[in-house]
Amino acid sequence: MKIPKILQKNKYMVAPPPKRLRVFRKEKLKADLSGDLSKLVSILIKDKEASIDHKTYWDNFITKATKTENEIKTITKELFKEQEEEVLRNLDNIKSIKGKETQFLQKLADMNRVWLSKFLPFVKELVIKIGGEKLNEVNILANIDLTTPAMQRFFNIKVAKLVSGINRTTRKALAKEIAEGFSLGEGIPKIKARVQNVFQFADKTRAVRIARTESIRISNFSATQAFIQSGVVTGKEWLTTLDGRQDFACEELDGKIVSISRNFLNVGDTISAEGQEFEVEVENVGYPPLHVSCRCTLLPVVL
Ligand SMILES: [Zn+2]
Repeated sequence: MKIPKILQKNKYMVAPPPKRLRVFRKEKLKADLSGDLSKLVSILIKDKEASIDHKTYWDNFITKATKTENEIKTITKELFKEQEEEVLRNLDNIKSIKGKETQFLQKLADMNRVWLSKFLPFVKELVIKIGGEKLNEVNILANIDLTTPAMQRFFNIKVAKLVSGINRTTRKALAKEIAEGFSLGEGIPKIKARVQNVFQFADKTRAVRIARTESIRISNFSATQAFIQSGVVTGKEWLTTLDGRQDFACEELDGKIVSISRNFLNVGDTISAEGQEFEVEVENVGYPPLHVSCRCTLLPVVL
């Protein structure tokens, strides 16, 4: 599905879908033909599924996810750069740093607010784009609905947690460097160099890690929601590629099918294979990623 024009022009603006999926379904599926239509779409998916080459599906997924990864990397680097500039500016503005150790560090809440004001609209834009494509994939020509409870939970809890985790890490690293500098009696130029080092690591290493994992998460969350909202997809199949780089736990999950709203794994579940063991520790797994640098996705299934 094409991104509405308004989104292409204003990169960070999110327009509500022109027609909500719920309205679309009400109009189309609850009409006299609804039964026939559902049947037809189910047949189309089943046919499609039969003809889907798993490797091709995965290749297409990873091509798109790589693009998403680059977009996330760009915005993440921009946000780190802004933070670095602000800390350096604050350091420039004070004549003596004695007794002002934390004054030039931004408050965590402020850091989160700035991040969310840019990152959240950007994530919503991605979900609209990817969700629309996934609905198209199962022959539903409608926009994804961002107002469902699952969507709200993702934006307000998941993304907020991600952002606050990122900023906590940055702040902690800055505080540690600065405390070290002070204890050695360093002046402003040396403290500034320490700040620059922290952000250099953020730019070169952390932004890449964040982008890689979050592109897979946002892509697969969008896919799952699109499948649920389609009203015709009833299951999902875990799909990985066996190219030698796959994780053993992902390889074990490959081909596993569960009902569309169920989890593949819950906290406490373990996967054992090839003498290795993987335990789900933090949260239930309803869609990939299973771990950092996971490259798995989901196939729509009619159960
Ligand atoms: Zn994986």
